[in-house]
Amino acid sequence: MPQIAIIGAGAAGCFCAIELKRRMPGADVTVYEAGAKPLAKVAVTGGGRCNISNTFDSVDSLAEVYPRGEKLVKNAFRTFSPADTRSWWEAEGVKLVEESDCRLFPVSQSALQVVHTLENLIRKLGIELKCRTKVEKIRREAAGYSLTLADDSCVSADKVVVTTGGGALSLLSDLDIDIVPPVPSLFTFKLSDHGVRELTGTSVENVTLSLAGTKFRSHGTLLLTDWGVSGPATLRLSSYAARHLADSSYRATLLIGWLSLAEAEVRSLLAASAHVGSADGAMTNRAITSSPGVLSKMVANTPPAGISSRLWRHLLSRAGLREDIRWTELGSKGLNRLVAVLTADTYEIIGRAKFKEEFVTAGGVSMSAVRPATLESRQHPGLFFAGEVLDIDALTGGFNLQSAWSTAFLVARSL
Ligand SMILES: Cc1cc2nc3c(=O)[nH]c(=O)nc-3n(C[C@H](O)[C@H](O)[C@H](O)COP(=O)(O)OP(=O)(O)OC[C@H]3O[C@@H](n4cnc5c(N)ncnc54)[C@H](O)[C@@H]3O)c2cc1C
Repeated sequence: MPQIAIIGAGAAGCFCAIELKRRMPGADVTVYEAGAKPLAKVAVTGGGRCNISNTFDSVDSLAEVYPRGEKLVKNAFRTFSPADTRSWWEAEGVKLVEESDCRLFPVSQSALQVVHTLENLIRKLGIELKCRTKVEKIRREAAGYSLTLADDSCVSADKVVVTTGGGALSLLSDLDIDIVPPVPSLFTFKLSDHGVRELTGTSVENVTLSLAGTKFRSHGTLLLTDWGVSGPATLRLSSYAARHLADSSYRATLLIGWLSLAEAEVRSLLAASAHVGSADGAMTNRAITSSPGVLSKMVANTPPAGISSRLWRHLLSRAGLREDIRWTELGSKGLNRLVAVLTADTYEIIGRAKFKEEFVTAGGVSMSAVRPATLESRQHPGLFFAGEVLDIDALTGGFNLQSAWSTAFLVARSL
């Protein structure tokens, strides 16, 4: 029976080893892990709760949640879908619960249950797990492969599966495999101050973020922090623009559309805030500033829906308006400045910061380097890839682990 080496005992490596051994009980399957124990990352996923997958019910297209690698993921899902993943875990006794945003977690709310389930299966199936065993190099031999370990010893394998996660690619250097340079994804933005620090803790639903001069854009909830911005809309934008931001050394101009509305809609909304009525709802500067319906209310006291008083006062100051200015005093210029701030408020990104501890790597083994149907190297028969080592990464929400389970399953089936 063949000797199969799996390099990396993370989510993809362990899952692949289990599925492989189930299909080929006689195969000699060894998992080499550089760290002291397997599944170290899985143990801390989802803040220790492990967001194991997603129902995908709110996902319109895979490209939306997999900015890179969507085609490979789509193919892997044909073999092992999110629904299959759910059944797989439940069959192993890990009951899953769906949260209101479609994320799936173990009912136990414990990532360790996931870790222990995989560890038990590895033991039960007789898979050899070698921890503290880093593979330094993979070399192709006349038949099969030779792996050079950190202590300079070599082991042979007929087939090799690389599941080393993001970033660890030097072991492939002798194989001339097409690699997309790795860069981080899923991070928050440090902003030069602009007064946002005073708003720490403010959360705004339904903002639109974009990077000036690019097509990168995201929607969702924005959280203001003591270093800048975080929350789902920021993470989404960091993922979509991961490479662009890396190339610009994490310096860019962030545009915030606080209401996710077009200019005309913002004008209508401001008119409503100022209690200006209009038969057709179409508001002009003139309607807001000179209508007899305009009360002498202070602008600061009439924030649009969804904008807190504190944030509204900050936005007035961004528009260069006095805190005690009244709608009747606003004038066309003042109103235009306010509309500009609400539609495209401008901040300088001066760096990146972590989102809790979660991050993934964009880049890795290029999609063009593998056969999508099997995830086998096009150049090197018998060499396979699964998980984050591939140029696949996703938004937060269980999508990254889902791609690890599905690509690992596909490789096991291919082998
Ligand atoms: C803090 C945190 C929280 C996260 N939470 C979630 C979540 O809730 N849901 C979600 O979907 N995703 C989450 N992610 C992302 C997700 O964990 C990863 O996408 C996923 O674990 C990737 O699995 P993998 O097996 O491909 O790689 P990894 O889990 O990174 O495993 C790779 C393994 O290979 C080993 N290795 C590397 N090089 C070598 C070598 N040369 N020789 C031997 N061994 C080697 C490493 O030590 C490691 O154990 C989170 C990530 C982080 C960092």
